[in-house]
Amino acid sequence: MKDKKILKEFEDELIKSGLSRREAIKLLGLSGGLLFLNNEMNASTTVNASDAKAKIVIVGGGLSGIATAARLSNSLSSPNITIIEPNENSVSYQPGNTFIGAGLYEKKDVMYSTKDFLPKEITLIKDKAVEFDPQNNKLLISSGKTIKYDFLVIAAGLVLDFTKIKGLEEIGDVYTSEDSKQMNEVLSNTGVSSIYNMDGAVQTWKNMQKLIEEAKTGKKLKAVFTHPNTAVKCGGAPKKIMYLMNARLNEEAVRDNVNMTFYANSGKMFSVKEYESAIIKQFKARDMKYKLQHNLQEVDLKNKIATFDNFWQEKGEYDEDIEEYDMITKHQKVEVPYDFLHIAPPMKAASEIANSQIGSRKGWVPVNKETLQHVKFKNIFSLGDIAAIPLGKTGGSVRKQYKVLCDNLIASMEGKEMPSKYDGYTVCPIITDIGKVMLAEFDWSMKPTPSFPLDPTQERYIWWILKSYILKPMTQYGMLSGKV
Ligand SMILES: Cc1cc2nc3c(=O)[nH]c(=O)nc-3n(C[C@H](O)[C@H](O)[C@H](O)COP(=O)(O)OP(=O)(O)OC[C@H]3O[C@@H](n4cnc5c(N)ncnc54)[C@H](O)[C@@H]3O)c2cc1C
Repeated sequence: MKDKKILKEFEDELIKSGLSRREAIKLLGLSGGLLFLNNEMNASTTVNASDAKAKIVIVGGGLSGIATAARLSNSLSSPNITIIEPNENSVSYQPGNTFIGAGLYEKKDVMYSTKDFLPKEITLIKDKAVEFDPQNNKLLISSGKTIKYDFLVIAAGLVLDFTKIKGLEEIGDVYTSEDSKQMNEVLSNTGVSSIYNMDGAVQTWKNMQKLIEEAKTGKKLKAVFTHPNTAVKCGGAPKKIMYLMNARLNEEAVRDNVNMTFYANSGKMFSVKEYESAIIKQFKARDMKYKLQHNLQEVDLKNKIATFDNFWQEKGEYDEDIEEYDMITKHQKVEVPYDFLHIAPPMKAASEIANSQIGSRKGWVPVNKETLQHVKFKNIFSLGDIAAIPLGKTGGSVRKQYKVLCDNLIASMEGKEMPSKYDGYTVCPIITDIGKVMLAEFDWSMKPTPSFPLDPTQERYIWWILKSYILKPMTQYGMLSGKV
């Protein structure tokens, strides 16, 4: 019944986009709607298949926490599951932030109340886990209460770390889904924003509209976009907002008045060669410029100057012992004036987890990248943005990971071998225009792994339909009910 409701919702959305019913049904088949219903929803969960009993505590009730809880609840005959989550609106649809930033969605389209998506038979503790005692299978929440567990799942996402950018330190640590008064206050009327926070996405659209109005007066303006030197969630998002701004400027016929430049910390525009070549071509075709090996270090809000550390390697002295030249990293400070600045801030695991026994020197929760089991504590698992898994920080990765985690956790409860392995699959639908998306799917092989028999480096309208109409209900009703 629920499956039919989802299909109907997809179909209605497609028809709303101006397609005929026939075309919509055809697209549903091609773009994965039917595929997911037929292949995944029906086969994915064996309801109440295990009689194993244990107390499972999940830290974080965002996308991966709720999806995991729902699937465990579907799979266990007597589930005993507690979620610890402080935010009332945790299950936001974060990919929608990019659309908010370009005026295509509003905040209400992506913010949901956690309790509306809470699986049945789950206990929600509205609080934060603050201390971990993995030797004794317990943790402390900020109210001072101790919570015991048999199995623990860490699904606490990541934190935006503005303290690393000089001039923006007072914004502090920010979560994507929380209202950030501090961020709003510091960045209001400065031309600076970030879609990595919901309010920041709203501000991005305001700043974009302001820039368009100024460009209409004939003024020559500068738009600057950054990508930091840490792992980030959805590494494509900082470029997607640039592509969408390009589209908005074109709509108003003022593109020629705005110089647009992307400053990436990395030495590449994308980690997979095939997609990188496609992106470089797309940038050139749109007169969007880019600079590599530039890390944002400072923002002077008053004078509108972004300062980057530009770094590169040079050959040093010849080392006779190893018969090789030493490589020396050189740096230069680059000051860039801007009228519009979009920041992808440095990101990290929340300090209460990073600095605990279950964290690691680098911050993320160290797990076996295939089984998702903690490297030291066998009754702890982790997934989503906080897990130390290469390429793991997208909702697309979570869609694969949470099923693996549930299989392995239930097997551990039953005292059996862990049966499932995560293969590193991730997906980054790169929005290249309003109405066009390049569906970048890949895994640890760092090669394209397309799900459909189509050239994956092409920008296509059908992927726009997938991205803008199908992925949201698929996430909301499919993943959050533990089925897709
Ligand atoms: C702008 C943007 C665009 C994106 N685009 C895409 C895209 O196109 N495709 C895609 O697949 N993915 C995309 N993503 C990424 C995707 O949304 C995330 O990877 C996904 O939400 C990760 O889920 P999670 O459960 O790990 O973290 P979240 O959903 O962030 O949930 C983490 C939860 O943990 C809670 N928490 C934190 N600390 C504690 C604690 N100590 N105790 C208890 N609870 C705690 C938080 O309150 C939060 O609710 C995008 C993200 C952004 C921001």
